[in-house]
Amino acid sequence: MKKQARILLIYTGGTIGMAKDVNTGALVPFDFDQLLVHIPELRLLDCEVVSVSFENPIDSSDMNLQHYRVLGDCIYNAYQEYDGFVVLHGSDTMSYTASILSFMFENLAKPIILTGSQLPIGDLRTDAKENLITAIQIAALQEVGRPVVTEVGLYFEYKLMRGNRTTKINAEHFEAFKSYNYPDLITSGVHLQINHDALWSVDSKSVMKYHKNFDENVMIVKIFPGLNERMFRSMVSASGLRGVVLETYGAGNATTQQWFLELMKELILRGVHVVNVTQCAVGSVVMGQYETSAMLKNIGLIDGKDSTTESALAKLMYLLGENLDAKTFKIKFETSLRGEITEKS
Ligand code: ASP
Repeated sequence: MKKQARILLIYTGGTIGMAKDVNTGALVPFDFDQLLVHIPELRLLDCEVVSVSFENPIDSSDMNLQHYRVLGDCIYNAYQEYDGFVVLHGSDTMSYTASILSFMFENLAKPIILTGSQLPIGDLRTDAKENLITAIQIAALQEVGRPVVTEVGLYFEYKLMRGNRTTKINAEHFEAFKSYNYPDLITSGVHLQINHDALWSVDSKSVMKYHKNFDENVMIVKIFPGLNERMFRSMVSASGLRGVVLETYGAGNATTQQWFLELMKELILRGVHVVNVTQCAVGSVVMGQYETSAMLKNIGLIDGKDSTTESALAKLMYLLGENLDAKTFKIKFETSLRGEITEKS
């Protein structure tokens, strides 16, 4: 007889498990036990689902490194016991968490699927049920006794995407996430259509490694026409700053004004790692394509390629925690570690 997959469902908070406060009318997290009461269909699934909850479920806008560690530990400590993991999470910062988890777990051999919803589970028109049930089915998917997905994925509105490739793009529609620079991994229709070529796989003999030494001395800076030296300087002069994700224009271009280039040089001399990512939703940084990015390349900025901002930030936090020398840091950053960037051959 085929062994049933065991899935650990971890509730962190978010709309999916929220209810209206009768006094204020605002959405607040409710007791996780009630989530199961709302979805009796969970009992019909062809797998065993065990659930745990954050002690105090949160709106994902409150997520921080401490929560990531609690979540990472929860998965790591249960890793041998379960075949897959589903993380229920608020959609607002789900792409950040998916990116962080992807770097936390190296050589992952089991699925970690994040999902949530735009409407609370108790709402008549909720998207929560489909998202949750299919996310569990995907986490339980096995072929020849092995999990089909061996990476961190994000499931929302009929699509499984690579977690570290996603961005939240819509606060209104059920289709809230997109993976612009990488194909979807699974599409849910009448059947689950698996895009086998797109799935991440590692040698089955490699041992899973858990990394939780992330560094939060980082910031995201989005440049804009009219950005002035005084403002920018004060932003990046924070003591202890170790990494900056610099959101530039188009294919990685920025102003050629002398003060800006000098400031970039100063940052790099101070040992701050600066990563160049594009403000565009689709496409890649191509450092050197224009004079305006060739200068950044010469100064020593890291090429973020087609990374999302969320993923670049998570990778920065991860690699800073690994205490690498500047050269190795740059090489590692510009290499795909978990399928987060496209490496041109
Ligand atoms: N504010 C909520 C959160 O991110 C929104 C959601 O759950 O979709 O926790």
